[in-house]
Amino acid sequence: MHNRLLSVDVPLAGTRHTEVSADFARDVRNFLDLNLTDELREAGRRTTGVYSEITACRFWHKRLFRQGWIAPAWPVEFGGTGWSVAQRLFFDRECAKADAPILFAAGLRSIGPLLMTMGTAEQKERYLAPILSGDHLWCQGFSESAAGSDLAALTTRARHNDTFYIVNGRKLWTTGAHIASHMFALVRTGTFPQPQEGITFLLIDMKTPGISVQPIMTIDGQHEFNEVILDDVAVSVMDRVGEEHKGWSVAKHLMRMARSNNTNSGLLRRAWRAVERQCESQEGWRKTALAIQKAEVEIQLTAFESLELSLLDANRLSGDDEAASSLMKVTATELHQRIAQLLFDFSGQYRTAKMDCTEHGGDTYELDRFATEKYFASRAASIYSGANEIHRNLIGRNLIRFRNLNY
Ligand SMILES: Cc1cc2nc3c(=O)[nH]c(=O)nc-3n(C[C@H](O)[C@H](O)[C@H](O)COP(=O)(O)OP(=O)(O)OC[C@H]3O[C@@H](n4cnc5c(N)ncnc54)[C@H](O)[C@@H]3O)c2cc1C
Repeated sequence: MHNRLLSVDVPLAGTRHTEVSADFARDVRNFLDLNLTDELREAGRRTTGVYSEITACRFWHKRLFRQGWIAPAWPVEFGGTGWSVAQRLFFDRECAKADAPILFAAGLRSIGPLLMTMGTAEQKERYLAPILSGDHLWCQGFSESAAGSDLAALTTRARHNDTFYIVNGRKLWTTGAHIASHMFALVRTGTFPQPQEGITFLLIDMKTPGISVQPIMTIDGQHEFNEVILDDVAVSVMDRVGEEHKGWSVAKHLMRMARSNNTNSGLLRRAWRAVERQCESQEGWRKTALAIQKAEVEIQLTAFESLELSLLDANRLSGDDEAASSLMKVTATELHQRIAQLLFDFSGQYRTAKMDCTEHGGDTYELDRFATEKYFASRAASIYSGANEIHRNLIGRNLIRFRNLNY
C-alpha cells in the first residue's frame, strides 16, 4: 500500500487530478479517527443549517488550525496546505464521512481570500492570522429590508471625517452576527446616478459601541441569523477595503468566491450521510423504494462533484468567473434541497411531531425530527448568497455575451 495512488472517487478516472497518495489518505483518516470525539461527531450529525453548534465549531476549528489544515484552499504563503484540488476534495469528503462539525467559515471562505487580493498590507497583517486561528469569526452585513436581490438599494449610511466613518442603519439576515467578532459590510457613502456607485466596503469590529444584534428564529427552530443595528458606529478609514464609493466591485468579487464556496460537495455529502443512515433504518418496500430514489440522487451528486472538481481544477471558482460561480450555486443548492426532500419523504410518523417524543420514539424520532428540520433549513439554500433566480439571470447574461462573441 505504500504511497500507492488512490482515486478520490470522482468520475474523471484517468486524469491525474483525481488521485491522492495512499500515504495522504492514511494520514487524513488517522487524524480524523484520533481527533473527532463522539461529541464532535454528534454535533456534525445534528447540523441542519450552514454551521454546527458553535462550541463544537470553535473546538474543531482550533484543532484543524493546530494541525495546519484549517485553510486547505489558501495559498501556502498565507497559511494554506499546498494540497492539490484532489487532496482538498478528498479531505472534505473524509470530514463528511466522519461527521466532522461544519465550520462557521465566512472568514476562511470569503473575507480572508478577498483580503489576500484586495486588502492593504496592514489589513492582511491584522486580520488573516486571527481568521486562521479562529480567534476572529466574521459575518456578512450586506442585505437590508429593502435591499436583497436589489442590493444596490442599500441605505445604511456612513459619514466621513478625517479618521473615521460614522455608520448608521440596519442590516438584515446577518448569519452568525450573534457569535461573530467582526462584520464586513456595505454602506452608502454617496449618491450618484447609478446606485452601485457610492457604496463603500468596510470591516467592522462587532464590539464597537453602537452595535446591537437582534436574533431572528427560522422555521426549523434554529437561531442562525439576525438583524444588526448600527447607531453612530465609528469605523477607522484604515478598515475600508478598496476605494471609497467603489465597494460594489469589491463585493461582487467576494460574492463570486462565496457563492461557489458556500455549498460545496463537503456540505452535500454531510446531508447525504443522513440519507444513508435513514436507508439503514428502513425495512421492506420502503427500503427498496428509498434505495431506488437514492441511486438517482447519488448520480446527480457524483455529477456535481465532477463539475466542482473540474471548475476548481481550471481555477474558475476564485472570484473572476461569474457564470461558473452562479452555476455552482444553483446546482449545489437545488441538489441540497433534493437530498433534504428525499430524507423528508422517507421519514416516518414523528416527522410532524410537535412535542418531544424521545422517550417513545428513540432513534426513529431523532431521525424524523432531523429530517423535518433539515427539510426546512434547506429551503433557505436557494435564497442565501443571492436567490437562484438572480443566478439564472447571470448565467443567461453570460450565455448571451458568449454567443455574441462567437457570431
Ligand atoms: C438563511 C439565509 C442566510 C442569509 N445570510 C445573509 C448574511 O449573512 N448576510 C447578508 O447580507 N444577507 C444574508 N441573507 C440574505 C440574502 O442574501 C437575501 O435573502 C437574498 O439576496 C434575497 O433577497 P430578499 O430576501 O430581499 O428577497 P427579494 O430580493 O425580495 O426577492 C424575492 C423573490 O423575488 C425574486 N426576484 C427578485 N428580483 C428578481 C429578478 N430581477 N429576476 C428574477 N427574480 C427576482 C427572488 O429570486 C426571490 O424569489 C441570508 C438569507 C438567508 C435565507
